[in-house]
Amino acid sequence: MNPVTPLDTSTQHDQHGLWPQAESVEDFRRNIAVVQSRIAAACQRVGRDPAGVRLLPVSKTKPEATLRLAYAAGCRDFGENKPQEAYGKWEAMADLTDLRWSVIGHLQTNKAKLVARFAAEFQALDSLRLAEALDRRLQAEGRSLDVYVQVNTSMEDSKYGLNPDDVAPFLRALPAFSSLRVRGFMTLAMLSAEAARVRECFVRLRELRDRLRQTAPAGMALDELSMGMSGDYEIAIEEGATIVRVGQAIFGARSTPDAHYWPTAGAGEGEGR
Ligand SMILES: *Cc1c(COP(=O)(O)O)cnc(C)c1O
Repeated sequence: MNPVTPLDTSTQHDQHGLWPQAESVEDFRRNIAVVQSRIAAACQRVGRDPAGVRLLPVSKTKPEATLRLAYAAGCRDFGENKPQEAYGKWEAMADLTDLRWSVIGHLQTNKAKLVARFAAEFQALDSLRLAEALDRRLQAEGRSLDVYVQVNTSMEDSKYGLNPDDVAPFLRALPAFSSLRVRGFMTLAMLSAEAARVRECFVRLRELRDRLRQTAPAGMALDELSMGMSGDYEIAIEEGATIVRVGQAIFGARSTPDAHYWPTAGAGEGEGR
């Protein structure tokens, strides 16, 4: 188990790379139970009902066989960052009819077609061009999609997501895309060991949501806040997260550096694949 650090002073972002690999159904059961109990404890600290927090296991980079172990341990949702990797796993695991796939990473418009075909939700909506492309593909498939608007709350140039000031006009444009059901917001906090700086990002997203709720287009509920990952999900819950996206604390460390998913400053768009 990971060393427990006092949440008020530090995150577990420096623990990345230390989580042991889950290699059996039993490993998954234990890891999920640990995460669930920490979710419950975080909820208790702030007087929230743990039923109001959804745990989204993030399976990126892990092979199909490992996802099947997680499934046997009870996972029915999988979060994937890259649309092609997710699509491949969806095809390979089509025998498991109760799986829900959540795409949580940046999407190029030319991959909208893939996501429209299989995803249950998309958490990284950050442009109207992409909304238009997704809507057109979804209409063609006769499907609809739960979407989350990604907001850059860390103010780092390197992060994807809308600037908080641009979110209100963005929301006003979304009802034109009738196959997208806007559920709320998603953010990646600063990857810092300092809890206070990470917490600020989560507070910023919650306050933005609370403010925009009052002016949101009719029928747009904005109930959901997808924020928090292995290193910081307890802080996110204390600040109102309704979805936490947890990979390494359930699956084990990834060998792929996070920069592969979140381009670092100056690295450009980092597209590819
Ligand atoms: C990989 C990923 C996560 C999960 O990160 P962990 O450190 O494995 O918990 C959360 N959100 C997004 C967008 C990701 O790409």
